[in-house]
Amino acid sequence: MPVFVGILAILALALNLLPPGLLDLPGFQWAQRWSGADPRIVRWVNTEVKAVALTFDDGPDPVYTPDLLELLSARKVKATFFLIGKMVDARPDLARLLVLQGHELGNHSYNHPPMAHLSREEVDFQLQEASKIIEKATGMRPRYFRPPLNSHNDQLVSAVVSGGMTFIHWSVDSRDWESNSVDGIAGRVLTHAQPGDIILFHDHGGDRSVTIKAVEKVIDGLSARGYVFVTIGELLKIGRPASVAGPEERRLWRTRSSREQRERSTDREVWSPGGRD
Ligand SMILES: [Zn+2]
Repeated sequence: MPVFVGILAILALALNLLPPGLLDLPGFQWAQRWSGADPRIVRWVNTEVKAVALTFDDGPDPVYTPDLLELLSARKVKATFFLIGKMVDARPDLARLLVLQGHELGNHSYNHPPMAHLSREEVDFQLQEASKIIEKATGMRPRYFRPPLNSHNDQLVSAVVSGGMTFIHWSVDSRDWESNSVDGIAGRVLTHAQPGDIILFHDHGGDRSVTIKAVEKVIDGLSARGYVFVTIGELLKIGRPASVAGPEERRLWRTRSSREQRERSTDREVWSPGGRD
């Protein structure tokens, strides 16, 4: 019987159907741990609007962030930057420039540790210190958090949510951190992108000129298909946030809401989890 309840709970979680109160029941807590579909984590947004959010982690970088801003400005694209507090401390002017150019800022910790390994005090320090530095530099307090190194657990998600931020993951990983191929990075995103996606890139760490060239191809390719580029805040307003992770789960999700969406999504490649973030 407990196994049956667990299986049902995993299915329900995968579909993002559970009302938050049910998560307190032991069966659902178990299922939540094993399914990885914590409904407090936003991985994509269920919408039929052809909109995606480009997100950039680990900056601001003194070399690549200004180059990236030049590209985004030329293409009139707004993005979301998940900043490392320590990096902002070194270049607060770049964080200000991001805000001045209409981009959105998120908290990506103070110095990028694997946060699932930290004590609650250390977690709170990482969250609060980064937000404090970003707010001091820009006047804006981050409303979104993305975990460094894709390292997260229930303690971290709870700390983020109780601190008033939304926990943002991603649905398409460009895997730019492990690739030097512009076409490989751009091709991966262009193959997988669909409405409501949150797309992960990096503007710091290694030679990110490769990322910038790939982003140019992604913007041009998706624009040609009729997509618009929005910030995380804008994306959250045009659809229902979902914690499901890949196309299979999305297919199940969409089956419920739209036959047309189901037909469109069945021919997509199998999504592979991972990502350094
Ligand atoms: Zn990172």
